[in-house]
Amino acid sequence: MMSGSSSDREFTQDHYYAIKQFNRGHVSEYLDFFIGEKSVLYGIVSNASGRIDEKIQYFQEVCDEFGRGFIVYDHGLENESSYRFVAAESPEDAVATKQLFENESRDVRGEALGYPECCYTDFMDRGNADASLPSILDEFETYPFYTNQLQRFNHGRALVSHFPCSYDCEGTIEIGKRRLELLAEYDPERATDLVQHMSSFIISVHGRDTFAASEYERDGNTVTYESMEPVWFGETDEELNNLLNSTNTVYVEDANTVHVGDETLSGDDVAVLSFEIPAGADLPEQVTDPRIDA
Ligand SMILES: [Zn+2]
Repeated sequence: MMSGSSSDREFTQDHYYAIKQFNRGHVSEYLDFFIGEKSVLYGIVSNASGRIDEKIQYFQEVCDEFGRGFIVYDHGLENESSYRFVAAESPEDAVATKQLFENESRDVRGEALGYPECCYTDFMDRGNADASLPSILDEFETYPFYTNQLQRFNHGRALVSHFPCSYDCEGTIEIGKRRLELLAEYDPERATDLVQHMSSFIISVHGRDTFAASEYERDGNTVTYESMEPVWFGETDEELNNLLNSTNTVYVEDANTVHVGDETLSGDDVAVLSFEIPAGADLPEQVTDPRIDA
């Protein structure tokens, strides 16, 4: 546990700005690290948008101020301009955490990162990442938006960075709620944007593209939407884009089958699901509730 003056230090809007520079997509997770409950961060920071040394320096300064350990290493990953990093509650913990990530199995790492046990156990059983998505779905369901990490490459619109064991996993919902509260305090606009985009209807075809409609209505298995936008990184699958936007209404047979006009998308690589703000959910007071809009 933290002790001494560093834990009494106030986390200011300037600190928030500094950690947001480091990686905007993970900013709610970083807030959870500095002022919430997360004790370890592990990730990759990319130089895709430039100024990487500056970003690292900003983050380093906040870690120093709050007595946290921060180690950047493995320069040259992927596109040769990325780094791996760990951050932990103290410089000693950061050294130990780096070793743990080099040596230990996925469950030990999942536990260190504070992921719910149900999720990292299940993830290991499934074996891989996105290909496993349809395998956890069966009926066409609507889930609480907190667990929606299908838009994590769409401007980092996600509250959790792990693959949940299910989209109504209680442990994951709890983490999502906590991070939304923290984010709303520092960045109401981004928190509102996340709520709006994460409560969406999703069609994902593994190996092709993922599309989301944040304006949609579900009536049984019929879904009507304004438009479906690609949310994956890289090039848009134009054929899929044209198909999904050739109509405003689709019929979802089950989580792996959807009828779009005269065509049917079906199979193990297809996932269809929707997310909503659960009835009776208390959104942070700073968030503009998209349901009241219009
Ligand atoms: Zn879980």
